[in-house]
Amino acid sequence: MNAPIHNTERHTEHDTKALQELDKNNYMHPFTDSKAMHEKGTRIVTGADGCYIFDSEGGKVLDGMAGLWCVNIGYGRDELADVAAAQMRQLPYYNSFFGTAHPPVIKLAAQLKKLAPDNISHVFFTGSGSESNDTNVRMVRHYWQAKGQPTKRTIISRHNAYHGSTMASMSLGGMKGMHEQGGIIDGVEHIMQPHWYHEALAGETEDELGLRAAQALETKILELGAENVGAFIGEPVQGAGAVIVPPATYWPEIQRICKKYDLLLIADEVITGFGRTGNWFACETYGIEADLMPIAKGLSSGYMPIGGVLISERVAKVVIEGGEFAHGYTYSGHPVAAAVASANVSIIENEGMVEQVRDVTGPYLQQRLAELLDHPLVGQVRGVGLMAAIELVKDKENHINYPKELEIGGICRDYALANGLVMRAVGASMIMCPPLVISKEEIDELMEITKRSLDQTLAQVAG
Ligand SMILES: *Cc1c(COP(=O)(O)O)cnc(C)c1O
Repeated sequence: MNAPIHNTERHTEHDTKALQELDKNNYMHPFTDSKAMHEKGTRIVTGADGCYIFDSEGGKVLDGMAGLWCVNIGYGRDELADVAAAQMRQLPYYNSFFGTAHPPVIKLAAQLKKLAPDNISHVFFTGSGSESNDTNVRMVRHYWQAKGQPTKRTIISRHNAYHGSTMASMSLGGMKGMHEQGGIIDGVEHIMQPHWYHEALAGETEDELGLRAAQALETKILELGAENVGAFIGEPVQGAGAVIVPPATYWPEIQRICKKYDLLLIADEVITGFGRTGNWFACETYGIEADLMPIAKGLSSGYMPIGGVLISERVAKVVIEGGEFAHGYTYSGHPVAAAVASANVSIIENEGMVEQVRDVTGPYLQQRLAELLDHPLVGQVRGVGLMAAIELVKDKENHINYPKELEIGGICRDYALANGLVMRAVGASMIMCPPLVISKEEIDELMEITKRSLDQTLAQVAG
């Protein structure tokens, strides 16, 4: 790997109290309990470099979450700033509506098609993962309408899935707390998730659970009538749901059922794309042949907001032949975002980051995490490539978590942060998803802090 160029002068002085006060009085945060946050004081992040973020209090913290699962190439790659500035000077904005395009978006689409699975033929661009999944709802329904089967409009997803936060993508997702705030759109159904640790019947093996969870799709299709079902959507590995790695039997069975009942298969690669699981896409890792693949996050490593949908030949043909597809965003294929995404993808490719995750850092992280199974709090570790979860339990034998009110995940997360590591808590699971450039030494640091934080958490809850 080439040595990345880092600027180490990103640690700047700020008046934290003044910023927190301004924040409290003016800024409405996403996914936040505002009152609780302001009682503690907002954490203000001011800079970042490589795998580390800097805060306004002078703290330096290892970012075990790559921002929000997105900063695949790490922070501080000045080349991308140069690309953005040059593109802004050349052509800051133009659209792709009504018969027009520009070089950066054309080049990015061609670059992505080369890296994507063989059946992918075109790329549609959006501003985010959520928009990509709204596009999928539109595209699935348009596809079946154009094929003369307009009743095939329902999309089946899973409980505890995450597909975004707009109205349609939130509906595709299976997050109960989100559905409860305002309801979901029509034509979306949810089936069980392939979560062996918590959903297995007594004595059920992982492979058996995988088959049963996949066959829930067939049951649901028969209940609704195949003539009413247009697609199935799933994350190859659930991310926000707590890094749930499906049993090996799951995806082949899902694929078989989609074929049998003529459903489009949507593999949501927003987290898993661009190297996260040790391949360019998790569809390769799990042998999935998808008709639509939403992407975002790692597409630009978060340096610019951009998403897209990789479209198979099967779907593209129908959309291309089907007259105007009346759908698009002002910022679909934004030139600056496209130029930055293109440079980001080149960095991942030229520096061998996917191979590094597959051969070196992915196996190393998973091997080191397995050591935690000896810890009294750890019931399961699960993961693939550079994404993983540590499940904290009260009763290892019966897979029983501590009571929810205890918020054990939050306790552990707060210790980790105080110790210099960002982890995320999803219920009782501690989540990690570090930048793809994390070194073995940095993984050792991540593990050392994780162990220390687990000990402190145990001392608090057992004490
Ligand atoms: C984050 C995420 C999304 C939504 O992406 P946004 O860019 O936040 O809109 C969709 N799908 C998956 C699997 C995600 O993890």
